[in-house]
Amino acid sequence: MKKVRARYAPSPTGLLHIGNARTALFNYLFARHYGGDFIIRIEDTDVARNVPGGEESQLHYLKWLGLTWDEGPDIGGPFGPYHQLKRLDLYKKYADQLLEQGLAYKDYKENSTKYAIRFKVPEGKTYVFDDVIRGRLSFDSKEVEDWIIVKDNGIPTYNFAVVIDDHFMEITHVFRGEEHITNTPKQIMVYEAFGWEVPTFGHMTIIVNENKKKLSKRDTNTVQFIGEYHKMGYLPQAMLNFLSLLGWSPTGENEILGHDELVSLFDEKRLSAAPSYFDKQKLAYINSRYMKLLSMDELKDLTRPFLVEAGIEIPSEVWFENLLAVLKDRLSYGQEIVKYYNEFFHNTFTISEEVMAEMEAFDYLPVLQLLREKFEALDFNDADLINQTIGSVGKELNVKGKGLFMPVRIATTGEAHGPSLPVSLLLLGKEKVLSRLNQILEKKGS
Ligand code: GLU
Repeated sequence: MKKVRARYAPSPTGLLHIGNARTALFNYLFARHYGGDFIIRIEDTDVARNVPGGEESQLHYLKWLGLTWDEGPDIGGPFGPYHQLKRLDLYKKYADQLLEQGLAYKDYKENSTKYAIRFKVPEGKTYVFDDVIRGRLSFDSKEVEDWIIVKDNGIPTYNFAVVIDDHFMEITHVFRGEEHITNTPKQIMVYEAFGWEVPTFGHMTIIVNENKKKLSKRDTNTVQFIGEYHKMGYLPQAMLNFLSLLGWSPTGENEILGHDELVSLFDEKRLSAAPSYFDKQKLAYINSRYMKLLSMDELKDLTRPFLVEAGIEIPSEVWFENLLAVLKDRLSYGQEIVKYYNEFFHNTFTISEEVMAEMEAFDYLPVLQLLREKFEALDFNDADLINQTIGSVGKELNVKGKGLFMPVRIATTGEAHGPSLPVSLLLLGKEKVLSRLNQILEKKGS
């Protein structure tokens, strides 16, 4: 078998979008799975639509996701250049050849010497190809009108340039969005005109939002650019994993798959043509799974900028570590630290009726009264001491387990369940803990 060569060929008309990233990823996984090459080529011939910084952003965030490439605009390679605008001579040469052979013709603008070049679509032909994802697709040549291969400014159109490039870059497989299905017969005509081998195509499923509508860049309900997820504190390995499941599925039950597992499990036969739902909850879940694997230092690096940005002071590293120990299991992504921080320390402290009912199940007043007394005399600088103090209350009143800890937890944090109680109390600090205890005790008239 020929060495597999797949490519990602973005137009630098914007930042790296979810859909682009998924296209890049599937071509990448396919190439890596078969030990082939992965190439990046910039399709910048639609000059008016190119945005400054578009290309850099694309490459930057592909790297962030963990993709590497063997050839590309930044690193060069044996089949360069990798920008279409730097290959205009090549396209001209092949357009001229088609003109000479009578397979294309000049289409003059009215009253002008300027002309576009049109491909002469053969009559009575059927163009058939076996799409890896959709099976056999076929188009009659009468469905396609003579189309422009070179515009009157000398710049080739996408459908022409893509064939020249895929041929000379020895691309064997092309995975791309389904909007390119109807472009494929045009491209096959060009391959046939030159007698070149046609690569294998796979047209991927669309990605839809919760209303089953194709994800559109104008849809403000869904965050769609990879850079925005980075800014919110999502992890690249989680994004990679999530993207891989947009139109592909592994054979087993386990969907939490790292880079190397994805490369080894990737199977183009498991690409689906059914619309793929962009499930935000699933993304948050996958991200939370990867967050749990972070070391304390990594977690600190991820969350610190959000606290700083929100103007939240970090009094000491120990305090920060305690905060993360208490809140980390709730976080789906880095930025959420601010929300949970605010909830944890919120000043207008309330206990819901539901949680209050849980506390009422215990004889809690004596526990809270004695605890208040002991806490008033205690310096809040050590979680162990706080723990011992709670324990001594239990001993003196002869209450243990839930009967002791539930009232303390609910009265001070407003929640019936949560992470380490002594560390939570240490973080809240003596003043807040006492004021919360007072709040309940005063309500009960004690
Ligand atoms: N530049 C095209 C796009 O961004 C590439 C399509 C293809 O892969 O052939 O949609």
